[in-house]
Amino acid sequence: MNLDDLYRRVIMDHYKNPRNRGSFEDDALKIELNNPTCGDRITLQLKVEDGIVKDARYSGEGCSISMSSASMMTEAVKGKTVAQSLELANRFSDLMKGETVDFEDYEDIEALSGVNKFPARIKCATLAWNALRKGIDEEQQHQ
Ligand code: ZN
Repeated sequence: MNLDDLYRRVIMDHYKNPRNRGSFEDDALKIELNNPTCGDRITLQLKVEDGIVKDARYSGEGCSISMSSASMMTEAVKGKTVAQSLELANRFSDLMKGETVDFEDYEDIEALSGVNKFPARIKCATLAWNALRKGIDEEQQHQ
């Protein structure tokens, strides 16, 4: 991959110093997803209370794109409402379509913008966001 150097540094920072990596000991909402094309696996846990994503953690294994995306996603959605989190997920989808998207509330995500030029890696980058959507879906069904 030939991503811009600055972007590469941001991605590697999240890969080597992951934010929110781990799991909750209690029975928080849990979503497991994998991306067989690359071998990425993620387990995402969300704590949603009163329509707000209070906390998020993830574990799993995979390439730097999938793991850094999970680190960024969990940072970005913590403290956001469910609606704001879904809106962020939509903005991330637009980013993967090659659109110019401003993540003013969490600019690190923009480091993944170069991934849209590598179609095989888009599934790596979107894995954590798909887990987020699935988790929010499940949460809303239980209400
Ligand atoms: Zn991957």
